[in-house]
Amino acid sequence: MAKITGRCVSILIIFILLSFQAGAENSAGKLRDGKVHIFFDQADSAYARQAAAIIHRSCEEMTVDLQIDSCESLYVYIAPSRRDFRNVLRGRLPHWTGAFATPANSSMTIRSPRWDKDNDFKATIIHELFHLLIHHKMKNTAIPRWMDEGLAIFYSGEQRWITSGALSKALATNSVIPLAQIDRVLKFHRAKAELAYQESYSAIQYLLATYDIDAVRIILDGLAAGQQLDSCFMNATGSPFNAFEKEWLNSAKKHYKWFWLADLDNYLWILIIVLFILVGLLVRLRNRKKMQEWQLEAEAEKDTDTGTETDSGADTDMKTETDSNVEQNTDTKEETDSEAEKNTELQ
Ligand SMILES: [Zn+2]
Repeated sequence: MAKITGRCVSILIIFILLSFQAGAENSAGKLRDGKVHIFFDQADSAYARQAAAIIHRSCEEMTVDLQIDSCESLYVYIAPSRRDFRNVLRGRLPHWTGAFATPANSSMTIRSPRWDKDNDFKATIIHELFHLLIHHKMKNTAIPRWMDEGLAIFYSGEQRWITSGALSKALATNSVIPLAQIDRVLKFHRAKAELAYQESYSAIQYLLATYDIDAVRIILDGLAAGQQLDSCFMNATGSPFNAFEKEWLNSAKKHYKWFWLADLDNYLWILIIVLFILVGLLVRLRNRKKMQEWQLEAEAEKDTDTGTETDSGADTDMKTETDSNVEQNTDTKEETDSEAEKNTELQ
């Protein structure tokens, strides 16, 4: 997780001591177990004892791996409430910080599991302990942040950074953060920081699996001796840092590129809702089209009926008129015949 360096350390320590003095009358507690000093609220006394035991066990393993003589005095502050933790963080670290180490005074600040159910208490302590020990080994020499975080996750075994969902999506979309940029992780938003932590672990896992813990030691010793990162990587892996980064990326692509498909069930509900809306829209569109067709058919039928009625009326009238002319002609003929008869009689 986070690591504080620089001037804000002294301000932070004064704040922590003051907050404990303020609560001392009621419930502040302090536990000393060898070189480990733990500050806590009485309600967290069981967690304080647990923290001391975790630190002793983990120190043994890490001092061997990092070739450190022994653990120095360590100070642990267990924040008794979310408000206390936020007060310590304010303005100095991002809001997504789960815990942090301040190597300049060998201290770590962690959340009490009483109110923080999201973080793994043991894993968090080991993670912050690694930051303190590596700083103790390297003195004032900075190491790449991805190595610092990747190794901290390697020792702590924090599952959320070991699972590679964010890394897999980044590999599939070509949006992997270059390892050197992880130095600025504390400026990242939560999602980008999650990707940075997963990348850090993945790169360290590749370094350890391919070149073993010896490679890590060679790089750390080289940096502590003032060598450039490229020459440290040349000595440890046979390639400069850029080449190592490409190697790791190629290996990660092979293993994790389609890993995000495993999370597909998370998107299934969204997919179902989108399909439901699409089907609804299609049905509505089809119904509207059918209505328009029916309307056109109805109008066409109406036009046909009106045309038939007009033709039949005209025929009847014309026929009637013709018949009447015929009758008229007949009458005229009859009249002429009668006149002829009259004339015949007269003749
Ligand atoms: Zn960390």
